Amino acid sequence: MSVAIPEQAVAALVAAERVVILTGAGVSAGSGVPTFRESQTGDWQQYDPRDLATPQGFMRNSRLVWEWYTWRRKLMERAKPNLAHYALVDMEQAIPEFLLITQNIDGLHWAAGSRDMIEMHGNIARTKCFDEGIPVDSWEETGEIPPHCPHCGGNLRPDVVWFGEGISTNVLNQAGTAIKKSDVFLCIGTAAMAAPAASFPLLAKRNAARIIEINPEQTASTMMADWSIRGTCAEVVPELVRRMGIPPIALESAGG
Ligand SMILES: [Zn+2]
Repeated sequence: MSVAIPEQAVAALVAAERVVILTGAGVSAGSGVPTFRESQTGDWQQYDPRDLATPQGFMRNSRLVWEWYTWRRKLMERAKPNLAHYALVDMEQAIPEFLLITQNIDGLHWAAGSRDMIEMHGNIARTKCFDEGIPVDSWEETGEIPPHCPHCGGNLRPDVVWFGEGISTNVLNQAGTAIKKSDVFLCIGTAAMAAPAASFPLLAKRNAARIIEINPEQTASTMMADWSIRGTCAEVVPELVRRMGIPPIALESAGG
């Protein structure tokens, strides 16, 4: 393993009582999860993302949107957590106040064993009612696409955050409170370009947190980072956890 991790970054994490982690597509990449754009192959290439992932697109053609998410679930169904996911489970166990905020909708952090976490953009495996906004676990399969809500008869939709949709106030408050108190804020596998995540590094910085970025490439957050570690998440995160002296329990159970 030839990942250059600055000693001071390790020391800052070891000393930290409160750590907030923001993860994005770079963490899922190691599990072979295709991004939204990467999933637009074959017939799906012809559609604008606004047709596939906005409330307006759903109102125009709810069948198309439902089928798009059926396709994306199929692309993700064989994906398993990678070493970056498991290393973050071990980190959670070692840090007194820990919060993982993910922009990923694939559920892999939870599958690996992370529990102090927020799925900020929802979870593709979950379903909710378009009209009521409430989670729906089961419904009658009548062959209709999309299926209908057992409570109100409205259309069901995936429980993910679409373009142009806001993040719930509860979620934003929980994230904001944790970021303001954090000693170290880690940006892992995300450029943190999309709102509201784009404001998180600045919020952390203003409240005197040290910022560590893990990404193969330079990102918009690099200039705010105290330390930028270049490499894939699956390479860097397990090595970082090892350097912190954290018992690699989840990592070893995963064969890492
Ligand atoms: Zn309903």
